[in-house]
Amino acid sequence: MNHIDQSVLQLQESFELEQIVTGWLDAFEQALDNRDEAALAILLTDDGHWRDVLAFTWHLTSRTDPRSIARGLLERQPAVKAKDFQINPDRTPPRHVKRLGRDCIEALFRFETRVGRGEGMLRLVAAGDSGASGYRAWVLSSFLESLHGFEEKRGANRPTGAAYSRNFGGDNWEDVRRKAQAYEDHDPTVLVVGGAQAGLSIAARLNQVGVDTLVVEKWPRIGDSWRKRYHSLALHNSINVNNLPYVPFPDTWPNYIPKDMLGLWFEFYAQVMEINHWTNTEFTKGEWDEDAKYWFATLKQADGSERVMRPRHIVFANGVSSYPLAPEILGLDTFTGDVIHSEGFNSGAPYAGKRALIIGTGSSANDIALDMHSFGCETTIVQRGSTTVVSIEPSAKLNYALYDEGPPVEDCDLIASSATPPLILEAYKGAVQRMVELDKDMIEGLKGIGFKYDIGEDKTGHQMKYRRRGGGYNLDAGSSDLMIKGEIGLLQNDDIERYCPQGTLLKDGSVVPADVIVLATGYYPQGELVRRALGEEMADKIGQVWGEDDDGELANMYKRTPQQGVWFIAGSLTQARIYSKYLALQIKGMEEGLIDTDPFT
Ligand SMILES: Cc1cc2nc3c(=O)[nH]c(=O)nc-3n(C[C@H](O)[C@H](O)[C@H](O)COP(=O)(O)OP(=O)(O)OC[C@H]3O[C@@H](n4cnc5c(N)ncnc54)[C@H](O)[C@@H]3O)c2cc1C
Repeated sequence: MNHIDQSVLQLQESFELEQIVTGWLDAFEQALDNRDEAALAILLTDDGHWRDVLAFTWHLTSRTDPRSIARGLLERQPAVKAKDFQINPDRTPPRHVKRLGRDCIEALFRFETRVGRGEGMLRLVAAGDSGASGYRAWVLSSFLESLHGFEEKRGANRPTGAAYSRNFGGDNWEDVRRKAQAYEDHDPTVLVVGGAQAGLSIAARLNQVGVDTLVVEKWPRIGDSWRKRYHSLALHNSINVNNLPYVPFPDTWPNYIPKDMLGLWFEFYAQVMEINHWTNTEFTKGEWDEDAKYWFATLKQADGSERVMRPRHIVFANGVSSYPLAPEILGLDTFTGDVIHSEGFNSGAPYAGKRALIIGTGSSANDIALDMHSFGCETTIVQRGSTTVVSIEPSAKLNYALYDEGPPVEDCDLIASSATPPLILEAYKGAVQRMVELDKDMIEGLKGIGFKYDIGEDKTGHQMKYRRRGGGYNLDAGSSDLMIKGEIGLLQNDDIERYCPQGTLLKDGSVVPADVIVLATGYYPQGELVRRALGEEMADKIGQVWGEDDDGELANMYKRTPQQGVWFIAGSLTQARIYSKYLALQIKGMEEGLIDTDPFT
């Protein structure tokens, strides 16, 4: 076949795909208009999925079962008034893909609602002669992408005004920024606690929809959250999934960004995205005024002074590493060497020629062990619980394979976040099978030295461990191989009687000597700051933060919580980039009185 024939075939195929998708969208809109539950249900496969992110429900929620999906859509349609469903010409065109072993047509579409512009993803599968145009939707998603009248100030809608002009005799941009950031005569609408990836992302998004936002960060500089981590750290995920909103990393940057480079980027990002931020400032206390509907938020500065602000919203972006967790360890108080938590570990250099015990088998423990070992420290890892181990390359990359398919990051974000919790589970199970094959030698080697290895309770691997409890796995950077070769030691906690002045005393009576013990035992969850700053009663009212909700979504993350004016954002750079947008839209929607549903009724 020559070049011209090929192009003609491709054109024909894209025309056919457009026909099929448009046929389905038309039938869908008609069924919505007619309030016809049966007609809607027949457009979905029996195992159909729908994930809604704000567009219909002002919530992050999923349904399976076609009848339930149809009912959910129709219940909200009178208020939502969704219409004008069509293929989105600004996105990747419909294409044939294989997802979870199933051939389907994947299409990105757009629509309008009463309050804003929506987008969504559709996966159509052939359904014989039933369903619209012989296809039914296996996966449908609907996202609210912007609010009418409050579109982000970007592209053709760039910001204008005095501060961005030749404002002779008036304030220039620098003056305006300085005044905005000082908060001398007013308080912000939103207080963001934490100035790392989650806090910067939500602040950048809120800026674009015109919500006055202040980020407070307890460290002296934005980016310190990464700078203060151990010397040899580089990111685990490759650069193409790690962008912050609006500003991609330069394409001259390395695939795995070193921590100080990322810290530098965060500092730059805060400036160029015009993010109001106070460093050396810790949020210590919040009290809700139910009548006035704002918080009294106490901010403590490094010089000991305090400022009480009255924001209507507090966004907790304080991460999972605010408070180090050090479990009770028998005899550790008798140990005469150094004891440090992984939070305080900087480099293995001071331990050259010494002996270290690293308690824990997660990523931090393993990276610290590698660092210690590379500086000539005799290093032993102590394992308590069973651990999932995944090679950074090639295995850990599998979960992000979508981002290597070619479509722009924004399209991949939409596709990735269209997955309902059951689909996420299925995808992870599939990926784990492949990972286990790829990492076969490493896994067998680890088991051979008595390492307790697992792939998660339901074979969903490290990603579900991350979603459920934020830990329990090692993204392996090379420590496993060294353990297998015996260059890094492995000790089972079950073999330990107790810790002693020289190191650790084993049940067989022998002593494993050490000069330093590193507790790589993790951190309190993000909600700990809520308990400490807002009090037990408020923490109980809000409930679980992170982990799975009843419907499998992340508990209280990126969505309204049981307490008005309390929001949470956390997770990977990818999650911060994606969900900051929807969190900002909810806060803006609330400020403008647009939200007409209560997710808790
Ligand atoms: C070795 C390693 C590699 C990693 N690689 C990747 C990767 O490639 N991609 C990825 O997405 N993730 C990666 N991660 C995970 C990443 O570290 C976390 O996802 C990230 O730190 C979470 O960001 P965050 O903004 O939610 O929280 P954090 O980074 O923990 O930041 C929270 C901020 O809040 C501040 N803060 C806390 N309490 C207060 C308070 N009361 N007042 C004021 N400020 C407060 C803290 O000082 C901190 O700056 C990696 C982690 C490690 C250890």
